[in-house]
Amino acid sequence: MLKSGFGGGGDASSPLKLFTNAKKKINGIYRDIGNYVSEFHTFVEEIKDVEENELVHQELVDHIQTCAQKVNGIKEMLLRDHMKVVFFGRTSNGKSTVINAMLWDKILPSGLGHTTNCFLSIEGCDDKDGPYLLCDGSEEKRNVKSVSQLGHALSQESMSNDSLIKVCWPKNKCSLLKNEVVLVDSPGIDVTEDMDSWIDAYCLDADVFILVANAESTLMLAEKKFFHKVNERLSKPNIFILNNRWDASAAEPDLMEQVRQQHLERGISFLAKELGVVTPQQAKDRVFFISAKEALNARLQRLQGMPEAGGALAEGFQARLIEFCTFEHSFEECISRSATRTKFHQHTQCAQDIMKSLLTECESLLKESSRMKQECDEYNEQLENQITFLEKRLKLLTAQAKEAITRLVSETEFQVRQAMSDEIRRLSLLVDEFDQPFHQNMMVLQVYKAELYRHVEEVLGRNLSARCSSSLQKQINKSKQLMLDEAQPLFECSNNSEQEPVLVSQAQNSAFDMSYDINCASLCQDFQEDIEFKFSLGFKCLMGRFIGSRKAIAPSEVPRPISGTGEVIAHQRQQADDSLSLQDILTSVAASYLKHNNSQSAGMLVGIIMVPYALWRTIGWKAIVFTVASYGSLYLYERLTWTSRAQEHALKRQFVEHATEKLNLITTFTSSNCSHQVQQELSTTFAQICHKVDEISKELKSDSEEMQDKSSRLSEIQSKIKTLKNKANFLSGDIDSFVKKFLHDYAV
Ligand code: GDP
Repeated sequence: MLKSGFGGGGDASSPLKLFTNAKKKINGIYRDIGNYVSEFHTFVEEIKDVEENELVHQELVDHIQTCAQKVNGIKEMLLRDHMKVVFFGRTSNGKSTVINAMLWDKILPSGLGHTTNCFLSIEGCDDKDGPYLLCDGSEEKRNVKSVSQLGHALSQESMSNDSLIKVCWPKNKCSLLKNEVVLVDSPGIDVTEDMDSWIDAYCLDADVFILVANAESTLMLAEKKFFHKVNERLSKPNIFILNNRWDASAAEPDLMEQVRQQHLERGISFLAKELGVVTPQQAKDRVFFISAKEALNARLQRLQGMPEAGGALAEGFQARLIEFCTFEHSFEECISRSATRTKFHQHTQCAQDIMKSLLTECESLLKESSRMKQECDEYNEQLENQITFLEKRLKLLTAQAKEAITRLVSETEFQVRQAMSDEIRRLSLLVDEFDQPFHQNMMVLQVYKAELYRHVEEVLGRNLSARCSSSLQKQINKSKQLMLDEAQPLFECSNNSEQEPVLVSQAQNSAFDMSYDINCASLCQDFQEDIEFKFSLGFKCLMGRFIGSRKAIAPSEVPRPISGTGEVIAHQRQQADDSLSLQDILTSVAASYLKHNNSQSAGMLVGIIMVPYALWRTIGWKAIVFTVASYGSLYLYERLTWTSRAQEHALKRQFVEHATEKLNLITTFTSSNCSHQVQQELSTTFAQICHKVDEISKELKSDSEEMQDKSSRLSEIQSKIKTLKNKANFLSGDIDSFVKKFLHDYAV
């Protein structure tokens, strides 16, 4: 139930509202700061967990954690914060009565038999819980219903004078309690010598001290001593002096003003001169002349709806009641201001420090992330330029390589063809160089021919290689080097500098060995030598001359096996010879004669037929004998000179003719085969270059994608940091306005 009227602290304009509003506000600020710090903490933890995090260091995370712990600690402290006033004075000076009057209720027992022998704190609790007692540190709630019960309960306790009993009273019953004022009653100051322990236990967090003095006597040394000690421990404590029982002075109105003046001067002197906690002017407003008993009774009357001044009251009651209310107002102003300043100043300072440090962290994160993003974007731009360059340059390189390969391929084809033609022309020399034992025995002959083929193949290959390979190798290496030189700027785009030298060394070390692929044995598998003795003037030989053209084509017309023994071949040849019947011969002679009547063969035919007849007719038998003898001698001569050497010569000559024909046939094939090899070789190098360039391009593209991802992640981080920064600024502004509103005017 809230009270209306003068005093009581229940209305909205109560000075106590300064503290409660400030507390509400600072609690709100700390709740926001707590949320902010935990949001910041989550944010940095998220960034820290990312693999490539370079932005958030452990120190920052630790710092934010420390801030969070601080904030949580202060939040808890704030919940416990209240305004505290402690009442001191000698026993029976009326401390309990003053407290009851201020609470508009008889909460504490007072008077005879109810001497307060320990500290009693009265604080608000939820209506549903109270009232109850908590005895010296115990959590056990002891229910009390009334003052008499409380008095009884207190008298039951045998406690030392520095122990504490908490009286928890429903907040709504007393406006002071509702506004979070805790009132502490103390045992008489005259009952202890150990004031230090009282001060340590109950005074260090007190916002206001009220010395309840007896107006009927002067301030005692014990009272003064106590406050001197308090003043030593606290910086300028707020002290009020209540000269209670002022109603007693009403009995002596003549002396009243004089006594009041004496008490006032002594009180001012004590506060301003002895303690120095206020100026003499301020001290005037700290000394009051009241009657707590009258004030309490008047309020109780009023609560019961009866006139305040009801009953037998001493003279000057109204003035004393007004003075009591004035005291209450001054007290509320003082305690509210002091508690707000002392309790919240430090908290706001701490909040400002936390927000300042977090704002600094935001700024440095923003700066660092901007720098990283800029670096990232610049690097990405560089990568994109490199990719574009790579693509353009590769197109150019491809065109150049194609041209170089085509040129070298044509060159190779020409050179190989030329070299082969030359070698074919020189084939007889090459064959003559072959020097192996020769014998017409079939087996020996086979071996001889096989060796001859190998010799021709080897020497031909060697000669072609000597003529073409080295020059072509140079050109191929030059072309490869040109390709690599052209590709060099592309390789330089790579971040992996080891790639290109490997490729260069591969290209340079791979000596190109051109294969001419001349398989002589295979080419000459249909070669069949004819080394049988033939008398040059023999019938067959002469006939052969007449039908030279027919004989010339005979071998090709005779089907021959792909491979076979000498006997088979000889047998086939014999069959071919036997198939030339006389009729054929005559037919051929006639045809030859008719066709080539001016030729030498025609002349010889006429000579052979006509000369012996003419000779016989003209010179007779002698001449014939001579002729036969000559013929026989010639035959004998030829037969004797048809040695193994002559046979070898004949075989070689026949082989040269055969091989020439065959080699001529494969010249085009061989040259194009070689050019193909060159093309393959250069294409392989080019393909390697392309492959490497592709790898570099892929690597650059992947780097670029990575940079783009990183950049967009940094953008998100930046925008989050900006939000955090704005929030930090907003909260700092909140703290500043709190300071302006609640602390600035009262700052010391
Ligand atoms: P405490 O020991 O300091 O707490 O003193 P109490 O509050 O118990 O008061 C002791 C006695 O003084 C009680 O009988 C009160 O009624 C009485 N008393 C308190 N204040 C006044 C007052 O202003 N005038 C008069 N006449 N008596 C008072």
